[in-house]
Amino acid sequence: MPAPPNIAAMTPEEITAGIFRPEILALSAYHVADARGLVKLDAMENPYDWPETLLDQWLLELRECRLNRYPDPQARKLAATIRQVMPIPDSSGLLLGNGSDEIIQLLLMALTGNSVVLAPEPGFVMYAQISHCLGHRYQGLPLLAKDFALDMPALRRAIDQHRPALIFLAYPNNPTGNLFDRQDMLEILRLAPGLVIVDEAYAPFTDASFLAALPEFPNLLVMRTVSKMGLAGLRLGYIAGEQTIIEQLDKVRLPYNINTLSQVSADFALTHKALFDRQTREIRRQRSWLSEQLHALPGITAYPSEANFILFRCQENRAESIFQGLKKQGILIRNLHPQGGLLQHCLRVTVGKPEENQAFVQALKKVLPAA
Ligand code: PMP
Repeated sequence: MPAPPNIAAMTPEEITAGIFRPEILALSAYHVADARGLVKLDAMENPYDWPETLLDQWLLELRECRLNRYPDPQARKLAATIRQVMPIPDSSGLLLGNGSDEIIQLLLMALTGNSVVLAPEPGFVMYAQISHCLGHRYQGLPLLAKDFALDMPALRRAIDQHRPALIFLAYPNNPTGNLFDRQDMLEILRLAPGLVIVDEAYAPFTDASFLAALPEFPNLLVMRTVSKMGLAGLRLGYIAGEQTIIEQLDKVRLPYNINTLSQVSADFALTHKALFDRQTREIRRQRSWLSEQLHALPGITAYPSEANFILFRCQENRAESIFQGLKKQGILIRNLHPQGGLLQHCLRVTVGKPEENQAFVQALKKVLPAA
């Protein structure tokens, strides 16, 4: 019998190298910038608070929560409210997750091992991150450099060659902000040998959606979140699609993934959805204003957006100094330049309140000539 390893004599690195999968050791953790004291325009949050009267009503509901009991494992009341306020076809199944991040994880955990997962790039980083974590073969396919449209010849070839078990299409796409062409998406739905997840995280900021197409395509699943409409702190996402597929995913879900406070609070908030609709409409108006301002600035190329953020390209090798220059003036946006590829020289700003957007534009003007 081999001698047992002398754990006490091993370094923590030697211990982790021996027990964790190499793909996990090779990953970097998802980094979230420290925003304390800064105008926060980095994370696609809704900047608006609730009116006092609504806060009071919400607190009354929270008083009724019994935290000694486990939550409703099916979150039935909340699921029914989601069906009431969102246009989910009656025939579709519905599953709730602790943020849509958790739903991405559930989907990828349910796939057979070593599956091919395909997504356009640049795209939402969690698709690649969780695929790698779970040992799948992630294939990122570059979007067209000119306008971030889908490269259909390359996609057709990739689907043919790799037969992906799952394709992610964010609609609108993060971090580029554009909607892919609907006909291209429909073609992918017809060609795909596996599931196609249309990720509508930014649904509150566009009129386009694939929810109504669900009954037509058994391999289509539409995923959404309440994060961007103004409830990022609750952690609630949902996915709708073919009942049989949803039933399988439900087996992977942990029984109490939506905690009691989130169930009650999300249910309360969604029954007051009109308030969030007013806020997101205002954010859409501010997006137009911000986009016009960015277009007028020399050395900046702003891309069209159907989301609550705008991607813009700076002149060669200016992105880092512009990002830091804004931060020095108290404004935090997102520097995407380090991701490379099509995101070279790119920054992304979340649309905030009018005064925050104005502060951002003023600060940007100051930093531009000297950058
Ligand atoms: N999908 C996309 C495209 C996103 O940009 C994000 C968050 N940035 C998510 C999903 C995850 O959202 P959440 O986990 O907050 O529901």
